[in-house]
Amino acid sequence: MTLDRTAFFIDGDWAAPASGDTIQVVSPHTEQVVATVPEGTTADMDAAVAAARRAFDSGPWPRMSPEERIDVVQNFSNLYAGKLGEMAELISTEMGAPLSFSNLAQAPAPWMQIEAFLGIARSFPWEETRTGVLGTDVVVRREPVGVVAAIPPWNVPQFTIMSKLVPALLSGCTIVVKPAPETPLDPYLMAEILSEAGVPDGVVNIVTAGREVGAHLVAHPGVDKVAFTGSTAAGRKIAAVCGEQLKRVSLELGGKSAAIVLDDADLAATMEGLKFASLMNSGQACVAQTRILASRAKYAEVVDALAETVSAMAVGDPLDPATEIGPMVAQRQQERVEKYIALGQEEGARVVVGGNGMPDGLTSGWYVRPTVFADVDNRMRIAQEEIFGPVLSVIPFDDVDDAVRIANDSEYGLAGTVWTGDVEAGLDVARRVRTGTYGVNTYTMDFAAPFGGFKSSGIGREFGPEGLAHYTELKSIYKP
Ligand code: NAD
Repeated sequence: MTLDRTAFFIDGDWAAPASGDTIQVVSPHTEQVVATVPEGTTADMDAAVAAARRAFDSGPWPRMSPEERIDVVQNFSNLYAGKLGEMAELISTEMGAPLSFSNLAQAPAPWMQIEAFLGIARSFPWEETRTGVLGTDVVVRREPVGVVAAIPPWNVPQFTIMSKLVPALLSGCTIVVKPAPETPLDPYLMAEILSEAGVPDGVVNIVTAGREVGAHLVAHPGVDKVAFTGSTAAGRKIAAVCGEQLKRVSLELGGKSAAIVLDDADLAATMEGLKFASLMNSGQACVAQTRILASRAKYAEVVDALAETVSAMAVGDPLDPATEIGPMVAQRQQERVEKYIALGQEEGARVVVGGNGMPDGLTSGWYVRPTVFADVDNRMRIAQEEIFGPVLSVIPFDDVDDAVRIANDSEYGLAGTVWTGDVEAGLDVARRVRTGTYGVNTYTMDFAAPFGGFKSSGIGREFGPEGLAHYTELKSIYKP
């Protein structure tokens, strides 16, 4: 079966592209072309925004009751649930995530998001009446923010589309999605499901394109809100444009999260936890715990345990269910990670496991060797910059205060974890680290609660009632 596509999803139908430009989707494992899809131009994007604008300004969707929209999104959820295996395999094929991760997070987690948002929407205060200070009633409504531009990255494509699409739909917004060029295939399957679910024409429009066309979408006068997930560098540019135009904007950006291993932690359980928290998606995760903080007293023990754990991880074909670490998404990403591995050595850090070169037994594919650096100072670039690959830095601390100081000594503030035998002591640390999410002896996101970043990790929150509220405008109506 071919994965090739020839059209865009615009106005509820398959629309011919404005140009003959194409994107070749290349398997990061085989380096062979697995599919060809059209590449969107500004003309395609204009058509998508026009359709979303019409659907918002004069279509049924924003005028339906929240309950009616919930019914349609529930249909979407039920149909999506039947496609999880297909979706997981598609994402692993296009961007190389190990199937074990795709079967956990790339497909089922987006579906769990839909269900969580449905539950939240059922009890959301769409319209409430308050008694005002003058003794008369005030009706407080939450109305849809308008046409939403959703721009996700390639690393968790459905996960980062769904966190925008579902609250937009439930609020009565219409939406234009611009998937990343590395992951254009999964949105086609999603479009088919949306169509079957009965989402009205023009409510969802999807045009895959590169950065310039993404920038065109952000600046488009027909767009009311931009919801972006990606690098901090791109987030700054997008925020500047939205600031100038007074557009609503939410940004989910990069991270350099710290895992603090306290002396009373169960080391075996901690290592099992860090395999996921630090190396999920082959290290291509915004929330990856890439700085491992260990006390000077336990430093050698933690380094040895981490070295043993990482060197035992299975690296290889993402479609092999036993694989734990797959290739990097693209050759440029492989080169970028290798540059950081070389830089770490120049900065004086010690390679304990890994280093540059292909992993054993592999001769092709955009692989890097999972690498653990010891003797890392938090001021080194490998400890400050987001590498986005399976590269971990172990940093020593003097005491808990010092560990919190080091964790906070970062431009970023997205996530963090603490590993300890004393959950109360862990919660105490959690309260002191300036990040939007934090885990005690785990890092499992919960879609009932807000997710997002402090500092350069972003503005705004996704998930929870807070994530739904971002797609609404508040209106107060004063009654006589
Ligand atoms: P990226 O910023 O290069 O691209 C992300 C998306 O934005 C792509 O679709 C790209 O085409 C588009 N884009 C880039 N520049 C743009 C511009 N100026 N205007 C409009 N669109 C533009 O990021 P990436 O390499 O695809 O993704 C990796 C980054 O995403 C990492 O920094 C990672 O931490 C971050 N990320 C964050 C979260 C989170 O929730 N905080 C989740 C996943 C990934």
